[in-house]
Amino acid sequence: MNFGISPKLEALGEKALENASKRFAEIESTTEQNQRRVLSAFIKNKVSESHFTESTGYGYGDRGRENLDRVLADSFSAQDALIRHSFASGTHTLGVALFGLLRPGDVMLSVMGKPYDTIQPVIGITGGGMGSLKDFGVEYRQVELDRNGRADLEAIENALTPDVKLVYIQRSRGYSLRPSLLVEDIEKICRTVKKKSGALIMVDNCYGEFVEKSEPIEAGADLIAGSLIKNPGGGIAKCGGYIAGSAELVGLCAYRMTVPGVGREVGATLGQNRELYMGLFNAPHVVGEALKTAVFASALFELLGFESSPSSTQKRGDIIQSIMLGNESRLTAFCRGVQSGSPVDSFVVPEAWDMPGYDSKVIMSAGAFTGGSSIELSADAPLREPYAVWLQGGLNFHSAKLGILLAAQKILDEEPDLL
Ligand SMILES: *Cc1c(COP(=O)(O)O)cnc(C)c1O
Repeated sequence: MNFGISPKLEALGEKALENASKRFAEIESTTEQNQRRVLSAFIKNKVSESHFTESTGYGYGDRGRENLDRVLADSFSAQDALIRHSFASGTHTLGVALFGLLRPGDVMLSVMGKPYDTIQPVIGITGGGMGSLKDFGVEYRQVELDRNGRADLEAIENALTPDVKLVYIQRSRGYSLRPSLLVEDIEKICRTVKKKSGALIMVDNCYGEFVEKSEPIEAGADLIAGSLIKNPGGGIAKCGGYIAGSAELVGLCAYRMTVPGVGREVGATLGQNRELYMGLFNAPHVVGEALKTAVFASALFELLGFESSPSSTQKRGDIIQSIMLGNESRLTAFCRGVQSGSPVDSFVVPEAWDMPGYDSKVIMSAGAFTGGSSIELSADAPLREPYAVWLQGGLNFHSAKLGILLAAQKILDEEPDLL
C-alpha cells in the first residue's frame, strides 16, 4: 500500500523522521508524564462504570458529571472544574468564563494583543448590539506584542492600573504567526501581574493542553478554559468545553453556565459521560500523536526547502504547525493531499471559498469523525500573503504521517523539481 507516494518521497520521509528523533523522544517523555497525571486523577477519584450512566431532565445528582469535574480539576492541578458536553464550542466556553468573572465597570486587559477572531465579538471589539461584554459596561484594553511577537512584560506592567479586574492570556498562536506561549512564558506574565496587581488571570488554553509537562494553573493562572474537540477531548468527546481554576471562580462560572442560584446542580449528561471520561483519559496520548505529526510535517517540508513555524527543532506550546508554501497552487495541493488521506470523506476535493469573517478565500481539509474537530488531522489556508498553511491534529501518527506525505506528493506532482 504505497498510496501513490514515490519511493524518493518515502525516503525523504524517513530522513525527516531521523531529523525529528530528538523531538520525538521529548514528546514521548511529556506524553508519559501527562498520561500518569491523568491516570492518577482517575484512580484518586475512583472512577467506576457507575459514573458512565446517563441522566435526563434536570440531571440532579449526576455522580458521573460531578466526579468528572474532579478528575479534570486534578488533571490540570486545579481546585475545581466544569466539563460539559453542553458547551457548544470553545468560544462559548470562554465567553461563559468571561461573563462569569466580569461585572459592569470592570476592565479586561488582553496582554497578548488582539485575541482569537471569535472572541472579539464576545468582548465587543467587533460587532455590536449582540450583548457583548462592552454592551454590559465592561471596558476592554489590550497590550500589543513586542517586535518579535512575544509578550511585552514592561508594557504589561505599565498597563496594570488598579481598575484592571481580569488579565487575559491566549496561549496558542491561533491563526497568527506569533510564537505560541510556553508555560514558562505564562509564568513570567503571571509573576509580572501578581507583583503589581490583584487582577485575576485567565488563560485561553485552546490547543495547549498536555503539550508540556505543566499547565498554566501551575504557572500562576487563576482560570483556564478550552474546547473538547481539541486536545482534552482526546478525539473521542463529540462536543463540549471545560473551565478549571480556583473553586471560587469556577463557582461564578457555573452560575453563568446555567443561571444564578442553580449553577452546576443541573445539566443532564444524556449518555455523554463515558465519552468525556474516555476522551480525557486518551488526551495526553493523542496530543503526543498530534505533536509528532506537526514535527514530522515541519521536518519534511524543511527538507523540501520550505520555511516552517515552529521549526522542527523549536520548543512547542501548542499543536499548531504552519508551513510557508509561498503560493496558491501549493496551498490547494497540500489541502487536497491531506483530505485524500483522511479516514472520512477521503474522496472529497477541497475548494477555496469565501468564508464569512475572512478577507480572502480560504481552503480547508477536514476528514474527521467529529465535525470541525481539530485534534483530528486538519489543515486550512487563507489564500493570501504569506501563503501559509496551518495544520493541526492527528489521532494516530502513522495515519497522519501518511496524510502529510500525500500533501507533499500532491505538490510534487505539479513541481517534480522540488525533490
Ligand atoms: C479554537 C480556539 C478558540 C475557540 O474556538 P471554537 O472554534 O469556538 O471552539 C479560541 N481560542 C483559540 C486560541 C483557539 O484556538
